[in-house]
Amino acid sequence: MKYISTRGQADALNFDEALLAGLARDGGLYLPEKWPEFSAEEIRDMAGKPYTEIVFRVVKPFIDGVIPDKDLKEIIEDSYAGFRHTAIAPLKQINGRIWVMELFHGPTLAFKDFALQMLGRLFDYILKKRGERITIVGATSGDTGSAAIEACRDRDQIDIYILHPHGRVSEVQRRQMTTVTSHNVTNIALEGTFDDCQDHVKAMFNDQNFRDTVNLSAVNSINWARIMSQIAYYFAAGVALGAPDRPIGFSVPTGNFGNVFAAYAAGRMGLPVSQLVVGSNRNDILTRFFETGSMTMNPVEPSLSPSMDIQVSSNFERLLFDLLDRDGSAVEAALNAFREGGNFDLEPERHQRVLRLFDAYRLDDEQTLSMISDYYVKTGELFDPHSVIAVAAAEAKIRDDVPAMVCMATAHPAKFPDAVCKASGVTPELPEHMADLFDREEKYTVMDNDLTKLKDLVLSRRRNS
Ligand SMILES: *Cc1c(COP(=O)(O)O)cnc(C)c1O
Repeated sequence: MKYISTRGQADALNFDEALLAGLARDGGLYLPEKWPEFSAEEIRDMAGKPYTEIVFRVVKPFIDGVIPDKDLKEIIEDSYAGFRHTAIAPLKQINGRIWVMELFHGPTLAFKDFALQMLGRLFDYILKKRGERITIVGATSGDTGSAAIEACRDRDQIDIYILHPHGRVSEVQRRQMTTVTSHNVTNIALEGTFDDCQDHVKAMFNDQNFRDTVNLSAVNSINWARIMSQIAYYFAAGVALGAPDRPIGFSVPTGNFGNVFAAYAAGRMGLPVSQLVVGSNRNDILTRFFETGSMTMNPVEPSLSPSMDIQVSSNFERLLFDLLDRDGSAVEAALNAFREGGNFDLEPERHQRVLRLFDAYRLDDEQTLSMISDYYVKTGELFDPHSVIAVAAAEAKIRDDVPAMVCMATAHPAKFPDAVCKASGVTPELPEHMADLFDREEKYTVMDNDLTKLKDLVLSRRRNS
C-alpha cells in the first residue's frame, strides 16, 4: 500500500514513511493510493468480535506488512488496555433510531485517545526499529494536546511540544496537559487562536531545513495513522447495528474534520454508510459550506465546545481531493484561493454529489445548553457540549431511509463541568484516576504569537540521539 499526497507533488510513501512524515513535503496530506475494500462477508464476520480484533482487521490492509501481524496485534492490545470500559467504545440507544457511541473512556476522556494511544506506540515501534528520534510539534484546541502528551510521555525516541491558545482551553483540558511534567514534554501557551497555533505548526513543516534538523513529525489529525485508527469504531458501530445488511448513518461533532473523514473512509471501504451529519458550533464554516457549496472564512469565536472552535479544517482537504477527482493541482489551486481570498466555491454538480452523503447542522451556545438540559431530563444522560451537538444534529437531520444513526460522543462531560453544570444543575465528576487533577502542579510556558521564537525554543532544547 502506497500513500499519496493530496497536492499530487510529493513522492508516494510506504506506511512507516507516511507515519513519520505527517504532512507531505508539498504541503498536502497523505491518503492511501487506493481504498482497501471489505466484502459483505468480511464485514458480517466482524460482528460480535472484540473491539481490538476489529481494529486489527481494519488497519491491517493499511499497514500492509510493514509491521508483522503479531507485533501489530500487541500494539493494538496495549493501546486499548488503559481504557476504562470493558467494551472500549460502548453503544447506547437514545431513542428510536438514534444511538450514541461513547468514545470517552480512554486515559484523557476524549475520543482522541483512540487514535493517539495507537499513534504513540506505532511511532515508538518504528523509531526503535530504525534507531531514530523525532520531534513532535502539535497544535491543540484542547483535547489533542493532552491525548498526545499522554501517548508520548516518557518515550525515549520522542520529544513533544504542544501549543495551545492561551486562555482558550478549559481548565480541565489545560491541566491534563500541563500537569504532565515528563522530561520530554513541553507545553506552550500561545498568545493567539487555535488557527494561529496550527499555522505555526504548518509553517515549521514547510521550513525544510528546520524540519530536517529536528526530525519533525506530527500528531495532529493531518497524520494518516490517526484517521486509520478511527475508522475501526465506525465498523464496530456499523456491524453492531446490522451492517452490511442494513445501512447506517453517523453524526459527528466536527472541528478539524478528522473524525468524520474516518467515517467517510469506512464508507469507501465497504461499510454501507448512507448519511453523515457534520455538527458545528457557531464556528460554522463547514455547515455553511455544505449548505451553499461555498467555503468562506470568518474569524474564530470562542464557544462552549472549544475543540470545535476552528475555521480551517485541515482534513477537509482529504475529502476535497476525492471531490476533485483526486486531482492534486486542483486541490492546491482551491486551497490557495481559500488562503488568499478567504473563499472558494465548489461547482454545483460536485456540491450536489457531496449532499447525497453529507448534511450539516449548527448549534449556538444557548441551544447547546438547552439541549444538554433536555437530554438530561429525557434520558438521564449528561452530554458534554461537543457530544450534544452530534445528538441534536442527528435528531434534526436524520433522513427517513436511515434505519439507525450513531452519534459520536467525543468527550466525557466532566471535561467541561462548567457548561454541563450550567445547563443541567449537575456537576459531573471526574473519574477516579483524575480526581486529584486540580491539586497537581502545572508546568507551561506562555509565548508570543511568533514563529521565530517558537523555532528557537525547539532548536535550543534539541537532544542528540
Ligand atoms: C477534537 C474534538 C472534536 C473534533 O474532531 P475533529 O476530528 O477535529 O473533527 C470534537 N469533539 C471533541 C471533544 C474533540 O476533542
